[in-house]
Amino acid sequence: MIHTTRSIRGPVREKVDVIVVGSGAGGGVVAGELAEAGHSVAVLEEGGFWKAEDFNEIEIDSFPRVAAWGGFTTTPEGVILSYGRCVGGGTVKYWADSFRLPADRYALWKDRYGIGDEFYSYYDRVERNIHVEVAPEYLFNEQNRRYREACRLLHWEGAAVPQARKNCTSSGYCTLGCPYNRKQSMLVTYIPRASLAGAKVFANCRVDRVLVEDGRATGIAGTLLDAQTDVPIHPIEIRAKAVVVSAGGLGSAGLLLRSGLRHPRLGKQLFLNPNYFVVGRFDEEMNSHRNIPSPFAVHEWRQTRTDARGRYVEGGYLILPGFLHPGTLAALAPGIGDALVDFMGHYDRYGLTLSILDDEVGGTVELDGRGREVPHYRISKPDELKARDYLRKTAALFFAAGAREVWLMDLRGTHIQNAAQIDDIVNGVRIEECLAIGPHIMGSVPMTANPESGVVDLEGETREVKGLYVADGSVFPTSLSLDPSLTIMATATKVAEGLKRRLA
Ligand SMILES: Cc1cc2nc3c(=O)[nH]c(=O)nc-3n(C[C@H](O)[C@H](O)[C@H](O)COP(=O)(O)OP(=O)(O)OC[C@H]3O[C@@H](n4cnc5c(N)ncnc54)[C@H](O)[C@@H]3O)c2cc1C
Repeated sequence: MIHTTRSIRGPVREKVDVIVVGSGAGGGVVAGELAEAGHSVAVLEEGGFWKAEDFNEIEIDSFPRVAAWGGFTTTPEGVILSYGRCVGGGTVKYWADSFRLPADRYALWKDRYGIGDEFYSYYDRVERNIHVEVAPEYLFNEQNRRYREACRLLHWEGAAVPQARKNCTSSGYCTLGCPYNRKQSMLVTYIPRASLAGAKVFANCRVDRVLVEDGRATGIAGTLLDAQTDVPIHPIEIRAKAVVVSAGGLGSAGLLLRSGLRHPRLGKQLFLNPNYFVVGRFDEEMNSHRNIPSPFAVHEWRQTRTDARGRYVEGGYLILPGFLHPGTLAALAPGIGDALVDFMGHYDRYGLTLSILDDEVGGTVELDGRGREVPHYRISKPDELKARDYLRKTAALFFAAGAREVWLMDLRGTHIQNAAQIDDIVNGVRIEECLAIGPHIMGSVPMTANPESGVVDLEGETREVKGLYVADGSVFPTSLSLDPSLTIMATATKVAEGLKRRLA
């Protein structure tokens, strides 16, 4: 049963086996797994409950339903963040790119942090449940076909991207919530399964703190919010044998800090996979907003290359095609007035690429005076080198694909007219003035075998409070240079399996 506050008349008190805070890639999976194993589960989700019929393909209506802060927010340092806030979490607005952790990062996690085998064996199950298959040809739009051909010409490695979709209509509205229920988000996969198995899902429910007695989690205290206005309307208190926090890279760190946890690494390494956006104008229509955003990815530069002395040479990012809906592109594009009108006039002929940058240093999550989580993030020097290299390589990709002009999307409206200009122009760009969005919020509650570096152990249980687990992107010990959701889901399956054993 999915409850919204439209159907709740007063304060709520409940008792269940397991509470799951958040219903995204991590929380959805944990809820589905535990409910189907016969445990009573309450899922508490701060965002609203929206269905396919609420996603009307209109940016200004649908985007605020699925995204936190109506679409975007920024860190105090000016880095733009985008993340989900609704039943289904970030998977409702995601693009469904479903990568496994690559072998090199798997080896690093295993050797340095002691994790790997725990979740790797669960990829198969997750892929079955969300119908992952490599993007078939009919999902490629013109820009994706162009980049595939450009990769061939440049001798770069690129490949079709595994997608979580079933009979996709290729309408292109994935980011605004799939109106056809073809994208296999949590909203149409694990959450309905959890609900059918008896889980109670409370939408519009913000968890304020975890209740802890004698060093053990005993429940949560939260606030039910008005579904239209987000104004607090009723308290909610739920008691449970275990609490699983899956509130995302910001929400989970914030909730643990509000609940009194003080592990020295809590909130200390916030990774974002910064997406630097670059736009190329072609003579022909690219229709980048049709089909799906990224059936193809450029893998050539995914791993960072260093010289014999360990100094950065190149790489450290995946190049993904994509697009921004017109309102978002206009808001983020360089220029105003006539210049902006002229820029937007070519919308159909734009291609767009973004970096999934493997950020090394990360930021932090802290609490403000009112106890709300505040992310801090600055692009570090090593990551700035990667960003500049990405601008160079992606501009080369655009020209190889036949683009007339490439816009670096910085505050000055810098654009490049031919491949010979790339190095000079990119070398002069100020990276802090380039458009970057952090869409993958991870790493703030790391899972490692070592109690000093890991806020949670390999079962996902916090080292400070028994019965309190974390299962979402926040447990990643490093960033990665690929989309993270499939690995979040596999990790959440592993945490759920451990809990099933303990509850039994
Ligand atoms: C435009 C866009 C496209 C993307 N495309 C892809 C893609 O193609 N492939 C991919 O792998 N990833 C993609 N991502 C990233 C992906 O959406 C996230 O990495 C993933 O959803 C994170 O999962 P999570 O479980 O950590 O958190 P989330 O999915 O963000 O779930 C956390 C949930 O917790 C809720 N919450 C937070 N605090 C509280 C609280 N105190 N009380 C109650 N509830 C709370 C939030 O409202 C949210 O719904 C994309 C992201 C964006 C923005």
